[in-house]
Amino acid sequence: MTHPFLDLAPLSAAHFAEIEDRVARLLSTEQDVVIMQGEALLPLEGAIRGAAGPGTTALNVITGPYGQTFGDWLRDCGATVIDLAVPFHTAVTASQVREAFAAHPSIDFVSLVHAEAATGNTNPVAEIGDVVREHGALFYLDAVASIGAEPVLPDAWGVDLCVIGAQKAMGGPAGVSAVSVSERAWARMADNPAAPRRSYLSLLDWKQRWIDGGRKALLHAPAQLEMLALEACVERIEAEGPAAVMARHASAAAATRAGALALGGGLEPYVYEAADAAPVATTLRAPSGIDAAELVARALAADPVLPLAAGGGALAKEMIRVNHYGPDATRGVVRVCLTALGSALGELGVAVDLEAAGRAVGDVWGTGA
Ligand SMILES: *Cc1c(COP(=O)(O)O)cnc(C)c1O
Repeated sequence: MTHPFLDLAPLSAAHFAEIEDRVARLLSTEQDVVIMQGEALLPLEGAIRGAAGPGTTALNVITGPYGQTFGDWLRDCGATVIDLAVPFHTAVTASQVREAFAAHPSIDFVSLVHAEAATGNTNPVAEIGDVVREHGALFYLDAVASIGAEPVLPDAWGVDLCVIGAQKAMGGPAGVSAVSVSERAWARMADNPAAPRRSYLSLLDWKQRWIDGGRKALLHAPAQLEMLALEACVERIEAEGPAAVMARHASAAAATRAGALALGGGLEPYVYEAADAAPVATTLRAPSGIDAAELVARALAADPVLPLAAGGGALAKEMIRVNHYGPDATRGVVRVCLTALGSALGELGVAVDLEAAGRAVGDVWGTGA
């Protein structure tokens, strides 16, 4: 009796290294790529604890909930943390980062989230990378929500630690993740007495025992199911072509914004400027007097598989998320999401124009506007 995901052979070191190389190609990076056997929080936390310590002055950019978490880890490591928080309906600018360096010349570490699925914004990493490079600081980037939906180019942008996960636009599993590590970042970790060593959080262990040994012997049995799924989702992106996959995500975001406005009734994009809006997920602001969580619950009652969610925590009252993860970044899915939201608004007594929303999606799809 064979089963598609039971009784799997162990994943070989050679196969593991091959998957790492494939992820490196997806990131267009020459840096070392380490695949971590856990959800993206594993390399996100491991990279901060490895690179930051009491001697670190960190600029922590907060454009959503993850920035808050990174600040907590950095403080926990003993780093001096300068928080740069911007409202969740916008993105941080390179000049804000430049001003932070001017005010605090001792900054030697910058943490940034590329795109935030939770708030729907995306930050101009290339421009920020120029500023970080001018000042020689180490650049840490959470690209979990951007990978697959928009370009993620650690080498071109001067990112020293770039973390990705498979569970958003890659349409893969949540149990595996990866980080690209520059030579500078390895050196910073090696010099950090507090960096995790002989620990599941340790990136240095992978450097010393896996990479420096020529990637011949794995540290432990890899999660083969997740590794095979990661390989499959990179393969799928390669087959469609990364540019086409990213164009689909951009179209989904543009069409959702336009469709929501055309629907009317007071539904609006949560992120004001389209340029600041993430291709991976579009956040919408519920009409005043309408509870976003209730609206989403009604829409999901009609069709439970739609990629809709209310905002997390305090945002649950006002924010609606339309996720465009991987296969959901299609005109059809965007259309049914808007129809479901429109119908739910109609049930709540808000006048909406479903036909206009459908037309707007059709008009905008593919223009990336
Ligand atoms: C989704 C996401 C993660 C991964 O966290 P989960 O909540 O476990 O999915 C990390 N960072 C960002 C910016 C994300 O959007």
